[in-house]
Amino acid sequence: MNRKRVVSGRGKYLVVAGLTVIIVVLSARILSVMIKPNDISSMLHQTPIQVATFFGAFMSLILMSNGFVLMIKERADEHILQMAMKDRLTGIWNRVRLEEEAPQEIARLERYGHPTSLLMVDLDHFKQVNDQYGHATGDLVLKEFCAVVQSCIRTTDILARWGGEEFVVLLPNSGFVNAAPLAERIRAAVEKHEFPYGLRVTASIGLAICQPSDSWSSWLDRADQALYRAKSTGRNRVEVENAPTEFDTSKTNIVQLVWRPAYESGNTVIDTQHRALLEHSNILLQAILDNREKSEISQLVDCLISDIEQHFKDEEAIFQKAGYSDCKHHIELHEKLIDRARRLSNHFLNGQVRDSELLHFIMYEMVTQHILIEDRKYFSML
Ligand code: GH3
Ligand code: MG
Ligand code: MG
Repeated sequence: MNRKRVVSGRGKYLVVAGLTVIIVVLSARILSVMIKPNDISSMLHQTPIQVATFFGAFMSLILMSNGFVLMIKERADEHILQMAMKDRLTGIWNRVRLEEEAPQEIARLERYGHPTSLLMVDLDHFKQVNDQYGHATGDLVLKEFCAVVQSCIRTTDILARWGGEEFVVLLPNSGFVNAAPLAERIRAAVEKHEFPYGLRVTASIGLAICQPSDSWSSWLDRADQALYRAKSTGRNRVEVENAPTEFDTSKTNIVQLVWRPAYESGNTVIDTQHRALLEHSNILLQAILDNREKSEISQLVDCLISDIEQHFKDEEAIFQKAGYSDCKHHIELHEKLIDRARRLSNHFLNGQVRDSELLHFIMYEMVTQHILIEDRKYFSML
């Protein structure tokens, strides 16, 4: 009867069926008495309606009792499932649950181009906490650490315990632009937090952005390598994977989009335009990092959207001429991207959208991911 706990299953249908049968039978009974009020004595004799009433009541009893038993069983099954998916100490997802969810995030990236990032977080010198303050205090620290991380992430982000004092944060719809500052926020929040008995704890974090070619293990492996680097370079820091992502920090001290061989289509018009879009995106990124005026950023955004729109038109003419079979879907996608970019740009001007969100959409979803996922489908036709 607890309406807050919705448990799926057949039990409730049996109960409803049992209730329906008894309501129908009793209604028929009332109706028959109303039609023939003097025939009340028939209740004491074995008339057809009497037999039907007993039979209906019997059916109802069987249905409802089986339904209630089934409901209890379904609730217990659900409880067991929850227990198997949750970490007992911290109450967050455990490794089993995470490994069920992660492939779905990779599929979403492949299908819709939604970027996804992964943080591998490990507490620094946690063994010393146990050694000095005892295991029970260590447990308290782990619980509180989860609360601190959870206060930094969105409700759609997933915090899971990978094992021991190692945690994973899965960030759906977050590329480098969102994930890197978030990782830094988590690191700083843990460092600042006062744990039980005035204890101070720090964490090292490895960040990896899911690539379209990634499997769960290759993605996790890159986050783990980044975490290893964070540990070996002094702990209490965030390290980003080394993989050849479209974002590069090695040549300059700021993040930039760089041209990758995977972007090459073989058609000079398309490749020249794609390169130009990457360069224009970098100019926009630089303007945002330099904290330029909102009006100036907005102007750059509008310019970039117009460039992208022109490029989409040229590209559509090229793949239509090449006989690409999925033209219609691709053109629709272009329209949707332009439409969303214009809406986001307006929201940015009104202050409803942050620059990082707008930048993420244009640089990641409209430019790089679109080239890597959708455009690559017609490259072979050129
Ligand atoms: P590093 O900075 O290299 O990560 O050092 P560390 O001491 O954190 O790493 P190490 O892997 O040597 O030790 C991990 C410790 O975490 C050892 C173990 O006792 C502790 N630990 C793992 N799970 C739990 C738990 O559930 N509760 C408590 N209290 N401690 C745990
Ligand atoms: Mg550790
Ligand atoms: Mg560890």
